[in-house]
Amino acid sequence: MKTKDLYKILGVDRGASQEEIRRAYRKLARRYHPDANPGDKEAEERFKEIQHAYEVLSNPEKRREYDEGPRTFFGGGRPGGGFGAGGFSDLSDLFEGFGGLGDIFGRAGRRETGPRRGEDVTVSVSLRFSDALEGVTTRVSVPVEAVCEPCRGTGAAPGTAPRRCPQCEGRGMRSRDQGLFAFSEPCPACGGRGVVIDRPCSACGGGGRVRTNRRVTVRIPPGARDGMKIRVPGRGSAGRDGGPPGDLYVVTRVEEHPVFKRRGDDFVVEVPVSFVEAALGAEIDVPRPEGGRLRLRLPAGTQEGRQFRVRGAGAPKARSRGGERGDLIVRVHVVVPRKLRRREREILEAFAEERGEDVREELFKKVESWT
Ligand SMILES: [Zn+2]
Ligand SMILES: [Zn+2]
Repeated sequence: MKTKDLYKILGVDRGASQEEIRRAYRKLARRYHPDANPGDKEAEERFKEIQHAYEVLSNPEKRREYDEGPRTFFGGGRPGGGFGAGGFSDLSDLFEGFGGLGDIFGRAGRRETGPRRGEDVTVSVSLRFSDALEGVTTRVSVPVEAVCEPCRGTGAAPGTAPRRCPQCEGRGMRSRDQGLFAFSEPCPACGGRGVVIDRPCSACGGGGRVRTNRRVTVRIPPGARDGMKIRVPGRGSAGRDGGPPGDLYVVTRVEEHPVFKRRGDDFVVEVPVSFVEAALGAEIDVPRPEGGRLRLRLPAGTQEGRQFRVRGAGAPKARSRGGERGDLIVRVHVVVPRKLRRREREILEAFAEERGEDVREELFKKVESWT
């Protein structure tokens, strides 16, 4: 079991000077910094502990409070506590880990955090191209920690309530003299929780929250892009100790279209045109992302790769309220016939004779002028 004594976390003794605390913190923070340990969850946890320990111990006021042990839990509870009468505002901390899952010792030093917000939860949703374009209401399954219904989050079996620990009178800590020093340590009777639960709620094992899959209806706005993050406030995990719930983030995964490629709010489509259309100019049909066609006027002498911008025919701008849309960018691809019939060949030969041009003349002129 990890020790959560703030002094031990920083590896200093209780009498350490502010300077010693600062030095210890800097050394450890460098070692466990997430940047130095990418992807290492344990290092990250460690780093958080170190930060927290330093936050408390580097502040003389907070340090004194910590040394003296936690405030009592009954009476004088912070306003806004979620469990109603009696100021049960610190219960979440106490119940976390109840049932042997987590670290129940030494949480006392963190009680000043009060009610804690639930975790944010991120899920991804796969969308068909047309749904992403037009917008859709969909249901997603979200794995969350929800408030345990039978105990309403208290962790105590229905019909019972947590009661104040008689040993520590709710402080969660006790002092012990050892030689010259007095140590504060978690109350062994309640494991530092300050309360005892005579009969833990069987549904949550005393934790007050249960893991469940919640079905959440999510509105995907028109024009959703692949990788877009949609925030659904308050639909993450339940808070602890009456804290607010976390948020849900829905990340969109949009299926790729074989023809329309997204570029910002624009779509790019490559449209084949015959070499005759390119030379003579033409009115051509172009497909639209949402289906149907639109007419595009191709000027005579259109070159390969030329792009035409059709304003407002792209994707709806997902964050706009005015129904603005991006553009459709039509990229011309000039198609040259692979095979010619006899008559076609004759016509083209006649054309070449009439034209009589050398299309590479300019190229050679350029090269020569450079040598
Ligand atoms: Zn106790
Ligand atoms: Zn329960």
